[in-house]
Amino acid sequence: MQYVSTRSLEAATTFGFSDILLAGLAADGGLFVPAEYPRLTAAELASWRETLRVEGYAALAHAVLSRFITDIDSAALRTLCDRAYNDQVFATADIVPVSELDGGLWLGHLSDGPTAAFKDLAMQLLGQFFEYELARRGTTLNILGATSGDTGSAAEHAMLGRRGIRVFMLTPAGRMTPFQQAQMFSLDDPSIVNIAVDGVFDDCQDLVKAVAGDLEFKQRYALGAVNSINWARLVAQVVYYVACWLRVTTSDDQQVDFCVPTGNFGNICAGHVARMIGIPINTLVLATNENNVLDEFFRTGVYRVRSSAETAATSSPSMDISKASNFERFIFDLLGRDGARVRRLFGEELASKGYFDLSDTPEFAELRARYGFVSGSSSHADRLAQIREVYARNGVLIDPHTADAVKVAREFVQPGVPMIVLETALPVKFAETIIEAVGVVPERPARFDGIEDLPRRVVELPNDPDALKRLIAERAEPVPDLPR
Ligand SMILES: *Cc1c(COP(=O)(O)O)cnc(C)c1O
Repeated sequence: MQYVSTRSLEAATTFGFSDILLAGLAADGGLFVPAEYPRLTAAELASWRETLRVEGYAALAHAVLSRFITDIDSAALRTLCDRAYNDQVFATADIVPVSELDGGLWLGHLSDGPTAAFKDLAMQLLGQFFEYELARRGTTLNILGATSGDTGSAAEHAMLGRRGIRVFMLTPAGRMTPFQQAQMFSLDDPSIVNIAVDGVFDDCQDLVKAVAGDLEFKQRYALGAVNSINWARLVAQVVYYVACWLRVTTSDDQQVDFCVPTGNFGNICAGHVARMIGIPINTLVLATNENNVLDEFFRTGVYRVRSSAETAATSSPSMDISKASNFERFIFDLLGRDGARVRRLFGEELASKGYFDLSDTPEFAELRARYGFVSGSSSHADRLAQIREVYARNGVLIDPHTADAVKVAREFVQPGVPMIVLETALPVKFAETIIEAVGVVPERPARFDGIEDLPRRVVELPNDPDALKRLIAERAEPVPDLPR
């Protein structure tokens, strides 16, 4: 399996999985995607059902990933899957269980990992991949990132204890919930360096850009990232679409729909890939909150990025985005894999106008029929109403991101087709909104008992790139001076 960039022109260079694993963007500014999607046979789908039933989630992950990753030895790949997906890491041996709600809806539970958010599913495997690949190359990596919540803690819990890896994670001082802070600051390991910056999230991001933008410094300390555009994260997510479909159906031709709360198009992009390889997904329902950049595109054909001033702070904060960083992968497919056109749209057009418009194109007219996409959005009041309703009818508490999706799912559910709503976080992470909706304090799983009372390990730093560089120079994982 080879990979290409979404902006590559004819006769483009192709790359193996190991080449793109540690890279962010392609050199031309595009994102990496498979040169062509594997197409599954009916026999393979049937064998996957057996694999999940008999051997479990890690074995299914190995089977699915083997179709996308051909430059890691199969036995080694299986070991990495076993280490990422087991009941020591996840709260359940099923890894991704499903449960039924009323009205044809199901929940696919993506939040039983160490930080109770769906990002754990991709990040745990990424940690294994990074450790494996760094050891193979005889080198090390210092991850530098900024977080306002879920991504940073999922990354830290995944990289913790991985040989050759250190994490420098910037957070805006005093601006995360006590629970989110505790999830990160309670980690007691020299490989994790938590940094509280005197500033807001945008300041943290600017600091990362300033320091990683110093190429000499970046190279000297082998600085890297764990951003959501990493293909390895995406392909790890394809596995849970397959697992949910298998768990909800009894025969291999039975179709399902998925409804996915999204901002960056990270989660649902994996659903698109699952559908492209032949998983019988009828409709992919995309749900946004008030920051409806993507809902607007799927309704109108206009993709208009927002400024940070136009980006609202909502009660489903992990979807408060101004542009969807994985969206280019879907547009590449939609436009018949025309890299020159993608380059024009995401390069020149967005830079000069701030939007592009596909409303009059034949591709947009076929979008629903060919790719199964529909969309909707929710408001704070909708989320409260859904949390209340699901609790009243099913006795289940859902988090506000999942509530976004339940609201939109109900608008599109078809008789006889299971609608699987992907649950992206446990309610305990967003207790304030749950209490506002139903007056109930969400249950706290035992693994999070008392985390706020543990000693806090965090370095306070002024909003100053030089101070950050000094800290990295002091605490970085040493970089061996080896040829690749
Ligand atoms: C990150 C996140 C999302 C959005 O994920 P996308 O990558 O934008 O699809 C939704 N819910 C929760 C809880 C998250 O942490």
